[in-house]
Amino acid sequence: MHEKNNEAEMDAGNEPVRMCVICHGRFVKKSLNRHVVSVMGDIAADLTQTAPGRGIYVCASPHCAAKFVKYRPKRAGRGKHV
Ligand SMILES: [Zn+2]
Repeated sequence: MHEKNNEAEMDAGNEPVRMCVICHGRFVKKSLNRHVVSVMGDIAADLTQTAPGRGIYVCASPHCAAKFVKYRPKRAGRGKHV
């Protein structure tokens, strides 16, 4: 017998995958916490997962969450020091 199980989440074959900016591990997008980086370089949690802007992702690991607090994205552009 072949029962169809809705919890077939183990097969991540077609899931979009993103990289954690801290550990550089690859995870399915929906298991990551998305943040967006403003032009000012500020990081804001993207609670909707769809905010416009440059998205960065952090995995669910407490280790990465702790490190992410101090994470600063590389500034693109003019190398202006603030
Ligand atoms: Zn991570």
